[in-house]
Amino acid sequence: MTEYDLIILGAGTSGLPTARLAANKGKKVLLIENNLFGGDCTNFGCIPSKTLIASSKVAHDIKRAKDAVKNDPFVQHHKEWQRAIKKLVGMKVRAEQQALAKWGLNYVIDKYLPNKLKNQKTWLP
Ligand SMILES: Cc1cc2nc3c(=O)[nH]c(=O)nc-3n(C[C@H](O)[C@H](O)[C@H](O)COP(=O)(O)OP(=O)(O)OC[C@H]3O[C@@H](n4cnc5c(N)ncnc54)[C@H](O)[C@@H]3O)c2cc1C
Repeated sequence: MTEYDLIILGAGTSGLPTARLAANKGKKVLLIENNLFGGDCTNFGCIPSKTLIASSKVAHDIKRAKDAVKNDPFVQHHKEWQRAIKKLVGMKVRAEQQALAKWGLNYVIDKYLPNKLKNQKTWLP
């Protein structure tokens, strides 16, 4: 009969690292899992829920961006903003400056903001 230093029931967030730690310390470990390796966090909880939240945020951003192109007087007035927003919507990525810059859409940082900062008359009260 095989003997073990440690027997762990369940390869979830608790069981997996504990098994790895003990094995790395030279212990003989038996890890028993009767369903999915990774447990709740990997398969149903933390990771899938964060993926769902991130996808919802992207969907929300796309909705807001489309609305801005259609209805926002500021965006309608500035063709560069319209072009950048439409391109972003087409790419289906988060509407953050890093995302814009990653795709070479640097109008906001390179031109719009420096011009805006130079001319205080265009600032909102
Ligand atoms: C929707 C949701 C979102 C979450 N989000 C987060 C988060 O953002 N951050 C965070 O820190 N935590 C989060 N959690 C909590 C996190 O998932 C748990 O704290 C974590 O999974 C607990 O790990 P565990 O190893 O104790 O149990 P589990 O992950 O449940 O693992 C237990 C394992 O044991 C197995 N098992 C059970 N009985 C037996 C048996 N008789 N024989 C063999 N195997 C067995 C199961 O199949 C399972 O794989 C979330 C949970 C949910 C439900």
